[in-house]
Amino acid sequence: MELNLQELKQTEFPVPVELEDNIAITSLSQLYNWGRRNSLWPMLFGLACCAIEMIATASSRFDFSRFGFEVMRATPRQADLMIVSGTVTKKMVVPIVRLYNQMPEPKYVLAMGACASGGGPFKEGYNVVSGMDKYLPVDVYVPGCPPTPQALLYGMIALQRKIDGQSIANGDDVPWYGVGPAEPTPVPVLGPDIIDPRQMDMIRRQAESAAMEMAALGQRELPAATQMVAAKATTQEAVAAAPAEVDSDALNFVLPTGGTPWSEAEDIREKRRLRALARKAVRATRRAAETDEG
Ligand code: SF4
Repeated sequence: MELNLQELKQTEFPVPVELEDNIAITSLSQLYNWGRRNSLWPMLFGLACCAIEMIATASSRFDFSRFGFEVMRATPRQADLMIVSGTVTKKMVVPIVRLYNQMPEPKYVLAMGACASGGGPFKEGYNVVSGMDKYLPVDVYVPGCPPTPQALLYGMIALQRKIDGQSIANGDDVPWYGVGPAEPTPVPVLGPDIIDPRQMDMIRRQAESAAMEMAALGQRELPAATQMVAAKATTQEAVAAAPAEVDSDALNFVLPTGGTPWSEAEDIREKRRLRALARKAVRATRRAAETDEG
């Protein structure tokens, strides 16, 4: 809302002629919106190629300070406007939502370019979010790849017009004046893929049904030919893994007589140690016999 001084004079309230040049009558909403729309401070961060156009928009040729946007803040706590300028990767969406939560109300989000609006050329890519609106409430979308500085300016002016239409008397327009603190947007979790905590119930249900399907598959009888191949492979593995035969006399030499030493030595390392000791004992016996003969 650009403040039109002529309009302010045309009021239904009677103003003495001599005071017309000194008194302006307007609504609280208009005054409030006028203050907000002309001091939108964007947060200073860029994500990809679109950020270069955003920087150009701030430079002298286009100069978005003419519209009150010039104070780009390097901290979310002093910013009103988040310009998502570039490709939003699944890794980056986590800090973006965290930064958004740190911005004070009222706050706005502008999705700049095809990537931030819907994934752009990387849509459905393994590492790219298909639109910032999946995670944050976007107020204005600016199309283009990349959008020109003029397009970004147009988007910013569209945001100003949106603010003009808000009324302080309407709770839906200004929810930040509601009762109690606003709920923060759930921060996505980056695991093997990005997980939105708001969809956790659905993800859990899908995982449970998938697990049940897997269990049903596991219990199903395999075809006869597959069973034969599997049985043959198991037998060959068992033969290959069978321990080498050890002379029982040699074992008796090393181990205390009686009992079943192999069943007691469950641990595989223990079995190996005993086998090595047995071989050593056999060699020692042979050497002793050769000495006697000699
Ligand atoms: S929309 Fe185009 S220019 Fe902007 S970040 Fe994506 S690929 Fe780059």
